[in-house]
Amino acid sequence: MEYPHLFAALDLGFTSLPNRVLMGSMHTGLEDRSSNFDKLAAYFSERAKGGVGLMVTGGIAPNIEGWLKPFDGRLSMPWHVARHRRITAATHAEGGRICMQILHGGRYSYHPLSVGASTIKSPITPFKPRALSSRGVERTINDFVGCAKLAQDAAYDGIEIMGSEGYLINQFVAARTNTRNDEWGGSAEKRMRFPIEIVRRTREAVGRNFIIIYRLSMLDLVDNAQSWNEVVQLARGVEAAGASIINTGIGWHEARVPTIVTSVPRAAFVAVTRKLKGEVGLPLITTNRINMPAVAEQILARGDADMVSMARPLLADAEWVNKARNGRTDRINTCIACNQACLDHVFQNRQATCLVNPRACQETELVIRPAPERKRYAVIGAGPAGLAAATTLGERGHAVTLFEHAGAIGGQFNMAKRIPGKEEFQETLRYFGHRLADTGVELRLGVRADAAVLKSGGYDAVVVATGVTPRSPRFPGSDHPRVLSYIDVLRDQKPVGLRVAIIGAGGIGFDVAEYLVENAPSPTTDIGRWTREWGVDLTIEHRGGLVAPAPEPPARRVVLLQRTEGRLGARLNKTSGWVHRATLKAKKVEMIGGVSYDRFDDSGLHVSIAGIPRTLEVDNVIVCAGQVPNRSLADELIAAGIVTHVIGGADVAAELDAKRAIAQGTRLASTL
Ligand code: NAP
Ligand code: SF4
Repeated sequence: MEYPHLFAALDLGFTSLPNRVLMGSMHTGLEDRSSNFDKLAAYFSERAKGGVGLMVTGGIAPNIEGWLKPFDGRLSMPWHVARHRRITAATHAEGGRICMQILHGGRYSYHPLSVGASTIKSPITPFKPRALSSRGVERTINDFVGCAKLAQDAAYDGIEIMGSEGYLINQFVAARTNTRNDEWGGSAEKRMRFPIEIVRRTREAVGRNFIIIYRLSMLDLVDNAQSWNEVVQLARGVEAAGASIINTGIGWHEARVPTIVTSVPRAAFVAVTRKLKGEVGLPLITTNRINMPAVAEQILARGDADMVSMARPLLADAEWVNKARNGRTDRINTCIACNQACLDHVFQNRQATCLVNPRACQETELVIRPAPERKRYAVIGAGPAGLAAATTLGERGHAVTLFEHAGAIGGQFNMAKRIPGKEEFQETLRYFGHRLADTGVELRLGVRADAAVLKSGGYDAVVVATGVTPRSPRFPGSDHPRVLSYIDVLRDQKPVGLRVAIIGAGGIGFDVAEYLVENAPSPTTDIGRWTREWGVDLTIEHRGGLVAPAPEPPARRVVLLQRTEGRLGARLNKTSGWVHRATLKAKKVEMIGGVSYDRFDDSGLHVSIAGIPRTLEVDNVIVCAGQVPNRSLADELIAAGIVTHVIGGADVAAELDAKRAIAQGTRLASTL
């Protein structure tokens, strides 16, 4: 057994969990419609089958006021129970266990009925909450208890009470958002009465043999929040009130410190859970940026926590636990913490899925079945689109040859993995490397397939995934040797001077800026350096765990430019764009919009900003001006009468990202 601590049972007295993996709560968007509950049941069923010890659903509101947005999932009426039974039945049929999370949004609720401990608006929602009256507090506690009872009726194994991330309960316990002077505010003891009463009365109502996980905010990462002593006092309070397990919550949603994006070091916050060990007797779950079994095993072996929570990693790979148990860790499809298809979707009111696993939350719709007849396919290009297509075709039983003119698989991922904070992308390449072998794909590296070769190969069809060519805007001096493309810098590692202008502020412009200002090694590999740079105090000597950030000086002076007026990075991803902007700001990158590029010469880049000329004295210009499809081979094949399918950037370069590439490759291959 490679991971003995991960696969040790956890005895809760009345029940025993088979291993230490908790699938943490994550909203998928399927919770909000009764008609989607069969899909949700299939989603949980696959993960139960994959061996997870215990799962937690996405947040379900105990009443209408607690909805995060109108018509979200709610469990407050007896007729709501039947839909939840579909989830519990599907989970139990696979031998799994599942708890339902009760989440009241409080002032984070995105509707005019929102309520809070006090009338203090959150910086991330437009609605000012109404302060709950004393009777309103009592009614809300009763709604939590009623919701838990209904969850028990629906055959859940337990509930999780969401007390962190800045939602209602967290708002009650922090002086920042609780300025009441009745029996629910004023002193720390009174502020924490609300969660303690919820746990106490819930335990009374559900009896002893029902799991109650309390998600405790251990590190608020906002000002005027809990002190460490208050965290400990609350933990002891919920233990005495009857909780079974305490889960760790890190950071309010309004915090300006990233907590789960890919640039956060793995297991960055485990020290906080560790600090609570010994203060209470309950099992403690730790969380955030734990995505591989070795990391989880080390945490458990050191005794830092009793269980490890992962949400996104189990979205990325439903078989994560079984693969870890069966010595197939290198086959895990690792969550790269990009947020692009999960949280970004949820925050845009779209259904969640996963960039590296487009089947996530689409288990009933995107089904990979054995092919009715074995055919021969050539796939051209081993970037994300080609890899997804080739391996899915191979999995279905087709004979597949994958041609790649470079010496390695991966395409643009080979550049992405060099960006500080994007080291996880390497895991996707490791996964696909094994998956090519497992699905029997013949890989031909260093071969540039042309129409003649492909025609003589006698393939039934060719899938063209030849990717993109960088756009090269022309201006006087654009052919100067000190004007480089992002490929020169990231792939070919050409030397770059200390003063740089970057043309183009899309995802790649930002990536290149981060690459150029960072001193190796990346802070993502060093928790101490990362916490200093973001001003996080894991010892929590100050309320909320915040101290002054101390970013290291930038390795270069960088100016980031775009032609469009307005804020740079406005189109970056919803949940990670602000992190990229804050990182560059901390590294003193100058960001200028409304620029026109006049010429480059030995004195630098001459630009006009709002019609006013300016010379940027730089050693190099790096062009990151987007891409155009590389589809000459596709055109040749079509002209030669070969059945051709075009996917990824070769199909449409604009707005291309790996999410679309992998989904398109997988979907096409599932139908051929
Ligand atoms: P992009 O996002 O389309 O950005 C291209 C940039 O170049 C824009 O800032 C654009 O701004 C500028 N530009 C376009 N045409 C130009 C021209 N003719 N002359 C000068 N500037 C020009 O493309 P990208 O940065 O290459 O990224 C490609 C895709 O990869 C993105 O869509 C993104 O989805 C994905 N990606 C994502 C991430 C991420 O962090 N999630 C990171 C890297 C890449 P102006 O037109 O205003 O000048
Ligand atoms: Fe992880 Fe990205 Fe998939 Fe979300 S979309 S689960 S962050 S790999």
